[in-house]
Amino acid sequence: MSPLCLVYHQDYLASYYTSTVESPARVKAIHAKLANHFPIVEAVPAEREDILRVHTTALVERVESESRKTYETALLAAGGAIMASDEAMRGISTFGLIRPPGHHAGPDRSWGYCFFNNIAVAITRLIANGTITSAVVIDIDLHDGDGTAAIFNDIPAVHVINVKARTRTSFLEFLEHELGNCSETDLLGISAGFDTYVLDWGGILEREDYRTIGNTIRAAAHRLCQGRCFAVLEGGYYLPDLGKNVLAFCEGLAGS
Ligand SMILES: [Zn+2]
Repeated sequence: MSPLCLVYHQDYLASYYTSTVESPARVKAIHAKLANHFPIVEAVPAEREDILRVHTTALVERVESESRKTYETALLAAGGAIMASDEAMRGISTFGLIRPPGHHAGPDRSWGYCFFNNIAVAITRLIANGTITSAVVIDIDLHDGDGTAAIFNDIPAVHVINVKARTRTSFLEFLEHELGNCSETDLLGISAGFDTYVLDWGGILEREDYRTIGNTIRAAAHRLCQGRCFAVLEGGYYLPDLGKNVLAFCEGLAGS
């Protein structure tokens, strides 16, 4: 059994209505680095009912009416997160190489290049169908996963950690500390943004830090939930190194 698999679909390369910085080139660069390292499972779109567990009908209709292509790709991203979470429940750590990202999408609001909250859609579905009763979400993106926090605000069974730090050392210490304080749970989900990288907007983390983060989360998953964890792509915009950083993170998560 492979220690880690990818969920991907070539339609993530679609040009849809969004900011130019959240470009198809991001996913393309990551895919080019990772494809030879890990097996790939092809994503299928989420059902509308999966989206409606976390978003209002009004928000879903807004996304759909603004751009059909955006709506379809956002459904495929949420579907990729669902598939990644299912693989995690089968004991296979999984990275969802998906776009658009999701962690800024709240119940009735989507912004910051996000439309549907992919990680929340996946976790809420597993709770709704009785597969899990609790989960921990770790958001390592430079930006606050405000949408994820809003969705799970009233759901104590889902603990959301947004890692905040100004230096490499404090970032890694914060992550260790927060994971160390977690109680046993059923599943770890990671909002994996790479814009905290030293050459990206955040200017903090080195490439090897992403391997350390992957390792730290893998160890925590074994301690807390029998190793069950999945990650989904959020931000990360420095294209020359983006694939290498994601590979370092995935190798850490896989323990390879
Ligand atoms: Zn970000």
